[in-house]
Amino acid sequence: MKVVLATRNQGKIREFQKHFSEIGWEVIPIADIADIPEPEETGTTFRENALQKARYYAEAVNLPVLSDDSGIIADVLGNEPGVYSARYAGVHGNDEANNQKLVEVLRPYRGEARRGHYMCVIAVVWPDGREITAEGRCNGIIRDFYKGTGGFGYDPLFYLPEFGKTMAELSMEEKNKISHRGKAVDAMLKKLKEAGI
Ligand code: IMP
Repeated sequence: MKVVLATRNQGKIREFQKHFSEIGWEVIPIADIADIPEPEETGTTFRENALQKARYYAEAVNLPVLSDDSGIIADVLGNEPGVYSARYAGVHGNDEANNQKLVEVLRPYRGEARRGHYMCVIAVVWPDGREITAEGRCNGIIRDFYKGTGGFGYDPLFYLPEFGKTMAELSMEEKNKISHRGKAVDAMLKKLKEAGI
């Protein structure tokens, strides 16, 4: 199966290609097949945003499209940064500024109050209108210093007590097994199988 991936985020592209290559799917980043402007992200939930992106590109390229919307949530802040994770500090995709802002906002908090989780919703939308979504979650602690060079985004701040490592210290194989995206992919593969796809 060939599917178009609705993201320009190189970190996500690497993770999805690795994950789906294991089941023989070819994942082609949208930028490799068409020069289409990005859709606006107006949803207030990960699911809405994931579906919005996948529908937009499926219509534009007339191929099945896989999208994800994901983010980090500091439990003490309610739903934040949440769907705004990529633009938390104002500029979309500026990981360094986003990380710095999260460090600043969480500075007053210690111990349990630094619990956080990553969330990911994946959508696959076909040009004929079929839609499947799946979600995954990964719990951890958001620290106030950086460790590790792997992954992307908030990973050097995101500590996994059961591994004694940050997400950025895991290999991609390890991250894909336990991450929000990895779990969402597993849930998606199960749903695709159930649907006979
Ligand atoms: P999206 O492209 O709108 O889904 O934005 C996702 C944003 O959430 C990214 O830019 C990162 O800031 C954050 N994020 C999502 N998944 C991860 C991850 O696996 N590691 C680190 N940051 C992530």
